[in-house]
Amino acid sequence: MATAPQLRFYTARDIDALPQLQGLPAEQRLDMKAVAAVLPFRVNQYVIDQLIDWSNIPADPIFQLTFPQRGMLSEPNFKLMRELIAKGAPQAEVKAAAEKIQRSLNPHPSGQTNLNVPLDAQGKRLPGMQHKYRETVLFFPMAGQTCHSYCQYCFRWAQFVGLQDLKFAAREAEQLVEYLKRHMEVTSVLFTGGDPMVMGTPVLRRYLEPLLGKGLEHIQSIRIGTKSPAYWPYRYTSDADADDVLRLHEQVQASGRTMALMVHYCHPRELQTEAAQAALKRIRASGAEVRCQAPLIRHINDNAETWRELWNLEVSLGAHPYYMFVERDTGARGYFEVPLVKAYEIYSQAYRAVTGLARTVRGPVMSCMPGKVLVDDVTEVNGEPVIVLKMIQGRNPEWVNRTFLARRDDNATWLDQLKPAGNPWFFGDELQQMIESGNARPWASP
Ligand SMILES: *Cc1c(COP(=O)(O)O)cnc(C)c1O
Ligand code: SF4
Repeated sequence: MATAPQLRFYTARDIDALPQLQGLPAEQRLDMKAVAAVLPFRVNQYVIDQLIDWSNIPADPIFQLTFPQRGMLSEPNFKLMRELIAKGAPQAEVKAAAEKIQRSLNPHPSGQTNLNVPLDAQGKRLPGMQHKYRETVLFFPMAGQTCHSYCQYCFRWAQFVGLQDLKFAAREAEQLVEYLKRHMEVTSVLFTGGDPMVMGTPVLRRYLEPLLGKGLEHIQSIRIGTKSPAYWPYRYTSDADADDVLRLHEQVQASGRTMALMVHYCHPRELQTEAAQAALKRIRASGAEVRCQAPLIRHINDNAETWRELWNLEVSLGAHPYYMFVERDTGARGYFEVPLVKAYEIYSQAYRAVTGLARTVRGPVMSCMPGKVLVDDVTEVNGEPVIVLKMIQGRNPEWVNRTFLARRDDNATWLDQLKPAGNPWFFGDELQQMIESGNARPWASP
């Protein structure tokens, strides 16, 4: 048997040594190092060898996805960092400057660090969990807070750059089990990160197996948010514990629960390699559901044809398109964001070009403070240009499936830049009360 591919990473200190970057002027490598000093950079051999088209850099979408780009920092920040790196400033100085910039980039958007963190029976915060929507608890296992490569637009970037006080992660499954036993309203647990699939199967098993035990019959599905089938498909084919992770899927299914991988695919190329298709085939054969989600990102997938191709490819491989997200209001958003009206146009054009099998997708969706908000239409009401918005997940479940109107703004990229058209938004007062009282869970059992 041929030897299995070994996971090998490259980080900022390898930028000068990477053979594929040797053709670039030294100046450009310096630019990359300046950005990589502030925002996380890590890429593996598979992405370099099989996903990036090196004849088309810097425009290549997977290169844009994984390698730092100058435009990701504001011009003054970029110049500052570039100067420090160029003159070989001491590590401590580079780090201090980088940290100052990091903290200015809205590291934890949408109330993640306060409003979403649940409490244990004694009223103590449980920082490795988020419970924003009644039915679903997010769990951040400590060992899963990294990824096989880093997406440059990542909204969880703050976790990867060592802002220690900003990290949220849990060491043990015990707290999760204890919390779930007290919360009968929860039907789904979603493991997230980072990428929980960077964990070896024995570690993953220690988190998952306790959820199949007594007193947790109300947990109907276990989901894992992951980009591993795109960044490291060998996780499911030739890695030493590849078979074992599929057995774990089967074990969850056998308990009567749905095992679902929420896979982050943002470009059709991620599904075109032999390894990627083999991985998906094996995952499907384990009985796990595969739902696909990704943000709409400038320089990477900001055209309808890319999405049409992506959704069709997903369907042809037995996976279900699930969400098209809007780039979140954090990190290098200025470089990657697409205005909401444009996002709606791209989504609609792609959606019109696929069959109903791919129309399981919903988008464009903002994961914002009140909930998940869908851009549902751009139209006119009584002669006024408006954007029709729809709440498809809400801090209060009563808000779900209700629409509301914003004045049309072709430049707006996030909900907070929009103004109500006509009546104030229906959730406004209640959300304000939640924020002021610190109780954002009107539905939580005691
Ligand atoms: C998206 C999301 C979920 C899961 O929502 P589904 O619509 O069930 O996929 C859960 N919690 C948070 C905080 C989310 O953003
Ligand atoms: S895989 Fe997900 S968590 Fe990891 S860098 Fe990409 S977007 Fe972020």
